[in-house]
Amino acid sequence: MLQIKRIPHGHKLHGKNKNFVAAAVAPSRTCSVDDHDEESSETLALTKGQYNQLLALLHCKDTSSAMATMSVTQPSPSSQHVTNSKVFVSQEGKKEEMSSTAGQVIRCKAAVAWEAGKPLVIEEVEVAPPQKKEVRLKILYTSLCHTDLCFWEANKGQNTVFPRILGHEAGAIVESIGEGVTDLAPGDHVLPVFTGECKECAHCKSEVSNMCSLLRINTDRGVMIHDEKSRFSIKGKPIYHFLGTSTFSQYTVVHVGCVAKINPLAPLDKVCVLSCGISTGLGATLNVAKPEKGSTVAVFGLGAVGLAAAEGARIAGASRIIGVDRTASRFLPAKKFGVTEFVNPKDYDKPVQDVLAEMTNGGVDRSIECTGNVDAMISAFECVHDGWGVAVLVGVPNKDAVFKTPPINFLNERTLKGTFFGNYKPRSDIPSVVEKYMNKELEVEKFLTHEVSFSEINKAFDYMLKGEGIRCIIRMEG
Ligand SMILES: [Zn+2]
Ligand SMILES: [Zn+2]
Repeated sequence: MLQIKRIPHGHKLHGKNKNFVAAAVAPSRTCSVDDHDEESSETLALTKGQYNQLLALLHCKDTSSAMATMSVTQPSPSSQHVTNSKVFVSQEGKKEEMSSTAGQVIRCKAAVAWEAGKPLVIEEVEVAPPQKKEVRLKILYTSLCHTDLCFWEANKGQNTVFPRILGHEAGAIVESIGEGVTDLAPGDHVLPVFTGECKECAHCKSEVSNMCSLLRINTDRGVMIHDEKSRFSIKGKPIYHFLGTSTFSQYTVVHVGCVAKINPLAPLDKVCVLSCGISTGLGATLNVAKPEKGSTVAVFGLGAVGLAAAEGARIAGASRIIGVDRTASRFLPAKKFGVTEFVNPKDYDKPVQDVLAEMTNGGVDRSIECTGNVDAMISAFECVHDGWGVAVLVGVPNKDAVFKTPPINFLNERTLKGTFFGNYKPRSDIPSVVEKYMNKELEVEKFLTHEVSFSEINKAFDYMLKGEGIRCIIRMEG
């Protein structure tokens, strides 16, 4: 049973807000509001931010005995509105405070990558308050994506900004906001995103582009745009940001344009993976390839992004989904994502595009390439049917790679497209991806194969290095 209780000299929740909370907590839990107080004429008008905070904290509870306490420290005698309030949550004796840290440096734990390829070290870091157009987030769950691994290894010509806090897939709650932030408030549930949407540039104003001029992915930058400084430090020494998100920290500072506000009822330990890889593959199919119901779709590469592309084809109602991968052990798990047939190029002595054309009476209707290997990209294009076939490139190629194909393929009415982050605009569109999960259209759970505590974060790297599983959720325990 969940209780909302008063404390001495505090204020009880006003009936309307009380009902809001009850409505928000139901129907997943039984909610009962402790109403035993004689001085019930006094009421508390919650600000939107306070209400969101309380809602967020209540929603984070996952035990049936959780107790939330609303405490008002210095109620103004002349007004029912409270300006100096705090929200506490008590669970098994542990207290947590959300709002009194605004404007102050927060000390918390972060996993610092001191140098390339060396295990991350959990350190106590200082996180400065958010500046203009920035928000500070409390990260509750994060997950490891291949891009983190790639920049941690930093052995293929990647920028080597160290020491750095990696991480870009996460579920978080807004702790405080900086100057000029109007569309987010403390307590909002959000997903930080590695690329942004300023809503003002030509790309953001375009209906088709998500390649924001100001906040487009930048793997080299280790500082905030506003003042070119880091918000992280250890004993005054800066620790650099990664992808503008740095979610391997219990608190982080992010540009407001890289934050998607989502349904507060969505479980953050599940939807955190929608920050990057899953949305990338899903959007490549649903927004760009757009297979029709009953069509045939080939997916090249059955890693997290490829499986998400297959999931998109399943949602779109494709009747045949052909998985192409050189690792045979990936085939069986892919069935859960709607993959109906498998092709391993190593099993054939002819080009895989010819194998696919034979299997499908001339070519597939749509193909989605998720490996980044240029030969796979060429195969993915050359395996689509003439007249209507569309191939979509998602995987990131080597910068020296060159795509070669006979131009007659285009004249025969095949289409080649590329996409970035599934063509989703982070702030405008990602909330709707979360809704797809909430209405059970998108099945996120099957991507979640491992879970570790924050102190075990290096295990998540081990799983990925060994090719084990799809996504490992890291609980931040803050
Ligand atoms: Zn990623
Ligand atoms: Zn923009």
